[in-house]
Amino acid sequence: MNKLPGRIPSVADGDTAACQTGDFSEVLSGLRGATILGINPPAFDFTFFDFWSKPLGLLFILDALREQGNDIHLVDCIYEGATEPLSFGRVRVERTEVRKPPPFAHIPRRYHRFGMNEEAFLQRLRCLPKPDYILVTSGMTYWYEGVRWCIGHLREIFPSVPLLLGGVYARLCPAHAVRSGADMVQTEPLRLELNGPAMDLYDAPAYGVLMTSFGCPMACEYCASRRLSPSYTERSVGEVLRDAARQFALPGVHHAAFYDDALLINKERRFYPLCETLRTRFPHVQYHTPNGLHVHEIDRRCAEELKRTGFTTIRLSLESTDPGFQRRGSNKTTAEEFQFACAQLVEAGYDIRRVETYILAGLPGQSLRSVEESIRFVQRCGARARLAEYSPVPDTPMFEEVAARMPELRREPLLSNKSVFSTYVAGILAPEAMQSLKNLAGEKP
Ligand code: SF4
Repeated sequence: MNKLPGRIPSVADGDTAACQTGDFSEVLSGLRGATILGINPPAFDFTFFDFWSKPLGLLFILDALREQGNDIHLVDCIYEGATEPLSFGRVRVERTEVRKPPPFAHIPRRYHRFGMNEEAFLQRLRCLPKPDYILVTSGMTYWYEGVRWCIGHLREIFPSVPLLLGGVYARLCPAHAVRSGADMVQTEPLRLELNGPAMDLYDAPAYGVLMTSFGCPMACEYCASRRLSPSYTERSVGEVLRDAARQFALPGVHHAAFYDDALLINKERRFYPLCETLRTRFPHVQYHTPNGLHVHEIDRRCAEELKRTGFTTIRLSLESTDPGFQRRGSNKTTAEEFQFACAQLVEAGYDIRRVETYILAGLPGQSLRSVEESIRFVQRCGARARLAEYSPVPDTPMFEEVAARMPELRREPLLSNKSVFSTYVAGILAPEAMQSLKNLAGEKP
């Protein structure tokens, strides 16, 4: 791995003086009769695709706060920046080219804000009642510019309203998030009585979002699932069905995405009973699994349940056929199990050419050849490889390994951006080599 050339210039920080960190669950659970505004910021990135992305945690929290008797509002800068519908309820999102932040100045690619434009956001805020509390969520750690952009504009319109920042970036990079301009940063999992996501806050949602479990029982060295959800917990089938019924009653909702990290674990007691009722009660809905399914769990019955229930977009997690990287990925599947799973999916009626399989590219120590072999293996099984470019996620063993040689990563989350980390930042693969892998996988440039 290369060392970064010289000192990487960083992004200017907000004021940290007044920001508190910790667990604000009690503050939120004590709110009654308050007006609360939830914000999902735009994404600042080189690329962005709507893989049924909704701020699920924020939607759960807003619903809980409504149950407590508060008046809740939502501005989702991604959803409200939609420009045209795509397949299966997804949308294309407005993009505005923005100046690259200093750490990306040398990268010959365009950089955008994906989501509402500034004028639309400010206009939207002006039409809302003045909130008593603002909750801003956050996604990828390297999307923090969207958080700062939102908080800056929120301060213009609602200068003295207490603002709590939560979400993935806040949890994984608290020392950085205190410089975002928020009053409070939620660094722990929120403890609220959760019912379901408040999807009815969207004016015309085309898909619902479902979650049958939180976290994952495995511990892959590159994944933060365990850090974000320290214990793997399964919800009851009844709870998930209640969420489904509420969302599928909304006009126009004919699709649903499962957000689980481990949907098929313990499938007999959770997934199968759920499928049976979904088929009977909601035969018009198509389901999608943007997170990869555990290949090891796919046997004949599982493939048939998926097909009969209407699972349309299936993604599989193989990640690598290299035994060394498989070990670092919890040894969750073998090449033989992958072949077997593909055969079961074909038997069940899936067109295997449309089943996408995640292959990780750009891991530290990974060669071009190793990724090529994994892609070719997937293709020999008849399936389609989909490259997942590695991004070092704070608080994971692989991040620590990378950051030991590249300490700048601890200070500047932008450097972890998956579109550029392996190529332009760490030099694990040349940009041309990464493009050759995408070409081999059949992705468009
Ligand atoms: S199996 Fe998937 S979700 Fe679970 S720890 Fe590994 S990468 Fe994360």
